[in-house]
Amino acid sequence: MRMTFDTVITNATLPDGRTGMGIGVQNGKIAEIAPGLTGKGAIDAGGRLVSAPFVDCHFHLDATLSLGLNGKYNESGTLAEGIALWAEMAPDFTFDDYKDRARRYFDIAISQGLMAVRTHVDVTDPNLVAAKALAEIKAEVADYIDLQLVAFPQMGFYCRDTMADTIRETLDLGFDVVGGAPHLERTAELGRSSITALCEIAAEQGVMVDMHCDENDDPNSRQIETLVYEAERLGLHDKVTASHLTSMHSMDNFYAARLITKIAASGINVAVNPAVNIHLQGRYDSYPKRRGMARVPELMEAGVTVGFAQDCVLDPWYPLGRCALGDVAFIAAHVLHMTNPAGLAQAYENVTTSAAEIMKLDHFGLKTGCSADLVLLDATSSWEALRLRPAPRIVMRRGKVICETAPAHPHLSLPGRPASFDPAGYFQG
Ligand SMILES: [Zn+2]
Repeated sequence: MRMTFDTVITNATLPDGRTGMGIGVQNGKIAEIAPGLTGKGAIDAGGRLVSAPFVDCHFHLDATLSLGLNGKYNESGTLAEGIALWAEMAPDFTFDDYKDRARRYFDIAISQGLMAVRTHVDVTDPNLVAAKALAEIKAEVADYIDLQLVAFPQMGFYCRDTMADTIRETLDLGFDVVGGAPHLERTAELGRSSITALCEIAAEQGVMVDMHCDENDDPNSRQIETLVYEAERLGLHDKVTASHLTSMHSMDNFYAARLITKIAASGINVAVNPAVNIHLQGRYDSYPKRRGMARVPELMEAGVTVGFAQDCVLDPWYPLGRCALGDVAFIAAHVLHMTNPAGLAQAYENVTTSAAEIMKLDHFGLKTGCSADLVLLDATSSWEALRLRPAPRIVMRRGKVICETAPAHPHLSLPGRPASFDPAGYFQG
């Protein structure tokens, strides 16, 4: 007996390369994926790519769209100047400022097919203005964005002696994850003990950990060792994500090889931020200038789940970005030399399914039983999606179309050439 569907997407190409596929949607979930499915309310994908939506597993929503609001810009392009600018601006932001910027961010995010975000939120302010505002935003956007909130002591766990209580208070607001920035503590020893203290709070509260870790060019930065150790000691394993790991680029090869084995054995995940990492790192080098990228192909080869994330859009750290995770994968493919067909297919996974795995979004994916959260892209493969990086024609959430963008089809005025053409698949003829 043939199932009846609320909606069917017909003639879709999937990221794994299957073509002519139908995706049947029922009660907001993917009910069936098979060739030749039809039904009422069919949406013809016309051979274009349909995939799970984009997922950003490392972002800073409290700071986004704030660049230049105080008339100042990060002239040196360093992490340090970004932090100094943020420390100057943050106390002046109101509850409504945080909400207003977050709402505008998500309008654009949805139009780019981004449907899940893990954001770090600075909890340096004991009044938790940003944390309270973004906890409300999480509820407000829940129908269209899966938002995870990370309690992030941006100025250090030891910037005041009440931070442990602040982290617990933040979790009570509905935060999902404990964060930290051990490389910003005043000594390496304090960095290590902050990791232990923060992981213990996460274990006690039954939440995940996502730690900014070794975000520098120091080949001897070793915070990841402590994070791996605590993930194992406290039984947290894949509930832990190490973010950035930029120092891994500069580490001694013998040490890095051994470290990668330890990371893989512990089960922790890694989130890198290709655009922001190459932009902020190497700033103290002459030539050659280091790239500050974790050793991602080697980590994945060892079995580690790696997400590519955006980190920043128009904030004191980064003057670019447009909520398009395809851009992030595009940059990652270049800087990590993932430009063969398998590498490009993998880079697309790193901003969709791998990032969802890090966030433990079990309902995300192009599989029967998953939420019907889908994007239809003006491309004929995930490779072409990264090359052209179009905004999705259709963004579907729980089986309903929530955003449409008219495709960019140029109109030519050239003798002997077509009046108009469709860029998707055009090079193939
Ligand atoms: Zn970050």
